[in-house]
Amino acid sequence: MTRRLTLLAAGFAASLAGAGLPAKGKEAKAGQADRIFVGGRVWTGEPGRPPAEALAVRGTSVLAVGTNARVREHAAKGTEVVDLRGRFVTAGFIDGHLHLLGGGQSLEELRLDDAETFAALARRIRDWATAHPELRWVTGEGWTYAAFPDGLPSRSQLDVLVPDRPAWLVSYDGHTGWANSVALRLADVTRATTDPPGGAVVRDEKGEPTGVLKESAMDLVGRLVPKPLPHEKERALKKGIAQAAAWGLTTVHQAGIGEEDLEILARVLEAVPRLRVYAALDIERDPGPEALARQERLRRRFSTETLRVGAVKGYVDGVVEAKTAAMFEPYPGGGTGLPNWTQEELDRTVAAYDKAGWQVMLHAIGDRGIDMALSAFERAARANGTSGRRHRVEHVEVPRAADRPRFEAAGVVASTQAMFPYPNRNHLGVYVPTLGPERARRALAFKAIDDAGAVQAFGSDWPVFTAEVVRGIACAVTRTTVEGTPAGGWEPEQRLTVEAALRHFTRDAAFAEHAEGRKGTLAPGKVADLVVLSQDLLAVPPERVKDTKVLLTVLGGQDTWRAPEF
Ligand SMILES: [Zn+2]
Repeated sequence: MTRRLTLLAAGFAASLAGAGLPAKGKEAKAGQADRIFVGGRVWTGEPGRPPAEALAVRGTSVLAVGTNARVREHAAKGTEVVDLRGRFVTAGFIDGHLHLLGGGQSLEELRLDDAETFAALARRIRDWATAHPELRWVTGEGWTYAAFPDGLPSRSQLDVLVPDRPAWLVSYDGHTGWANSVALRLADVTRATTDPPGGAVVRDEKGEPTGVLKESAMDLVGRLVPKPLPHEKERALKKGIAQAAAWGLTTVHQAGIGEEDLEILARVLEAVPRLRVYAALDIERDPGPEALARQERLRRRFSTETLRVGAVKGYVDGVVEAKTAAMFEPYPGGGTGLPNWTQEELDRTVAAYDKAGWQVMLHAIGDRGIDMALSAFERAARANGTSGRRHRVEHVEVPRAADRPRFEAAGVVASTQAMFPYPNRNHLGVYVPTLGPERARRALAFKAIDDAGAVQAFGSDWPVFTAEVVRGIACAVTRTTVEGTPAGGWEPEQRLTVEAALRHFTRDAAFAEHAEGRKGTLAPGKVADLVVLSQDLLAVPPERVKDTKVLLTVLGGQDTWRAPEF
């Protein structure tokens, strides 16, 4: 972590030193570029266009894309010439779904990702608690269900590791919390506690809470955890923005944000304009005129290319591993999940936003949850006579095969996450068995979603998974871990081509924010958001995609990341 941040700092220093800053060029004749990139392979993302060799940037926009000779015509005195030496250029990456504050915080928190066994998890928790005696609470995130023999942890396991203070550790998907006994006592969670609506207090055979709290029950303990102060949030956001730029991201879609955090984000982006953010506000249930007016004011106020509010986001259901994703058929062992809405309530709410011109993003993972979301979108368009809202289903993990064509028919975007099929222990050992064989075969079926004609926008759900785009592309094209397992990939017929994965991370994600006319491809007049990668993604075998380095990230003509070796 420390090493990575040092590199980041070095990268910023290099870009701030002005190596890549375009000249203002007030005197420049029309058609003169501030900077040209030549001798590369430029994947424009424009349909039907073969890769170009070169690209010219003027001010904040792309001036020309084409052969070296054509682009060099835009060079004059004062034009900076960058020799790409065969490297690969694409439009800047767009992450269609992440949580920037959580992502930034994850860079400075106890992270339990990659601790695949209980022993590894225990070591990391104990080391962290020992190293941080000053913290009143031990908090962290990222454990996976597969690290526990029963698929779920228990408070007694955590009591041994953190006996002296409250401890609260959230699962990698953010849907399950693990408390120790001190935390449960502080929260007054006992055998007498009833399950809150949309949540569950997991109990042992004697009826005692085990320390595991699902979904809305997480608040019982979560609300006691000291909240980060505004300046801590600012620091985390800055780290998140720097990290995103280093991963080649030029735009991210913030999947839900409250008003207070939006103000902080706006302040940070004004000070550090190194990323564009398309933000979805938290959805309100049955929003009245007052709620709609308040959200409308935010939409008007935040409407620049750096921070644009255009959507609202809500949750239809939970997640597969916790068996809270809403399904038509029961999970092995029973239960069909927990929809957070009745269909009528969801229809009313979606219709109200649709009528007011909002894009609605609905988290829906189970086949029943996805059907509920699609039905609400279809009915809203019919009731209001609207079209082109580009409502989105977020995650779309286990749709019925028959529901896939509904995306294209209703103009609904499939917002999926490229790393979700990452076949690690948790995926193969918990996710797949929890679905059962029939559902597992149609889960995270990216190719089938494409074949059904949907616009599919890729994202990460960072900090649920890393937002490192190269790793996302590698996962989508191989369906294996970085170690290459399982051989041939998990459900290999759902592998995508590199070009399809690139499209989902650029043009399709731009479409998902109503911005494909301005970004997402490299063409004259579009914003100069681009990435230089170390190798030609269209030429390397899929298993080598993961070795790609991001050498340069450019946002509106300005460098936001430069690798030391570039
Ligand atoms: Zn999310």
